Amino acid sequence: MGVLSLSRRQFQSPYERFCTVLEHVMERLKLSTRERAMLREPQHEHAAELSLQRDDGSATVFPAYRIQFNNARGPYKGGIRYHSAADADEVKALAALMAIKTAVVDIPFGGSKGGVQCDPKTLSRKELQELSRAYVRAFAPHLGADIDCPAPDVNTTPEIMAWMRDEYEKVTRTYDPAMITGKPLSYGGSRGRDTATARGGFFILQELVDRDALDPKELRVAIQGFGNAGAAMAIFLHQAGYTVVAVSDSQGGIYCPEGLDPIRIQKYKKKTGSVTGEYCKGSVCDIEKMKLDHVRRVTNAELLELPCDVLIPAALDNVVTAENAERVQARYILELANGPVSPEADALFEERGVTVVPDVLANAGGVTVSYFEWSQGRSGEQWTDEQVDRELKRIMLDAYKAVRRTARREKISYREAAFLVGVQRIVTTMRARGWV
Ligand code: NAD
Repeated sequence: MGVLSLSRRQFQSPYERFCTVLEHVMERLKLSTRERAMLREPQHEHAAELSLQRDDGSATVFPAYRIQFNNARGPYKGGIRYHSAADADEVKALAALMAIKTAVVDIPFGGSKGGVQCDPKTLSRKELQELSRAYVRAFAPHLGADIDCPAPDVNTTPEIMAWMRDEYEKVTRTYDPAMITGKPLSYGGSRGRDTATARGGFFILQELVDRDALDPKELRVAIQGFGNAGAAMAIFLHQAGYTVVAVSDSQGGIYCPEGLDPIRIQKYKKKTGSVTGEYCKGSVCDIEKMKLDHVRRVTNAELLELPCDVLIPAALDNVVTAENAERVQARYILELANGPVSPEADALFEERGVTVVPDVLANAGGVTVSYFEWSQGRSGEQWTDEQVDRELKRIMLDAYKAVRRTARREKISYREAAFLVGVQRIVTTMRARGWV
């Protein structure tokens, strides 16, 4: 591929990047024109403008979306993201990924996603609650346990899920604990949901490491993003003996070749708001303390290129592209974030023999435990931690094995194999239902 075409293609939108992989897979499966058309476009795209009365009495309008991609296999399922980049295209791409993901782990859901284009850091707690309730009022007719079941994503939390359930039950005058997942334990949540995304990714990484007869103690891991997914992953890996050499958040990161203690970092992040909080206040760092601990500050771009064996992007999308892929040193990349590696970077990694575990497999633990929460909400049962962990492991490893078998048989990457498994399952159901 020439330099010109590479640089032009870097500007693909998230949805275009999704389509790049989808088109390959649909061609390989020789799908009909109608099947391809149904898999390319969402079934419903809902949009609204949420008007929020601010604490100072002024009003701000925020664009909001709920995009329902495909429900052949069950109710739509997908998180709600609060972020300034959460526009219609990004939400559509994330909804499409959800449809593939639920099929890869073979749970009875379709795919959807929601978003509010806002910077939640500029909102007070009261404003955040009002915005979350406004989202539910705007989309209530399209939500429900049997219709479309939201969950947390970037910048949305169990507390926000609780406000949303409460608003939904008020508006619809129903009792519907399964209409949303990722709720607090005290209000219909499931054990293990808070760490599920990381736990699922951890099971897959362990399987890869075992397969390649590697010793976790000799593996260095760099993790971008220290939120729900990234922080829990750092802790699981540390506890299993891996050396977590770098972590970061939106304000940058820290690197220590000898290994960091993620539990300590989490404590400082809670206290200071940043993973660098133990060493730095804003841009002023305690250089002596950093020297003593063999720690240095790194940018988010530098983190991706550090010497390590496993790279785990766990923040935002499109961070590893044709521009920096050559400088990535890891042998394994586990996509805990959605869409962090671009199709061009994928191609370069394949040439170099770097294993990329794609988002639709690597981070599917979150939606899998959401499925457990949805089932518990419907039946009134309460699962134990052991039950959640055992079932999550079984589902993640079954999915991993299906993807690995397909990758070997077809001689394709894990990403294409995961899409192939997912698309095949969706199409089989669409055919059975007489849709195509
Ligand atoms: P979160 O909001 O809890 O955490 C996001 C983290 O990324 C924070 O540490 C934040 O500081 C950091 N960050 C923000 N901007 C950054 C930047 N420019 N550079 C580096 N770091 C930055 O979100 P989360 O729930 O952990 O989600 C992270 C990713 O994982 C997203 O792509 C999300 O779609 C994906 N994911 C999450 C879940 C889940 O259950 N939480 C499930 C599947 C996929």
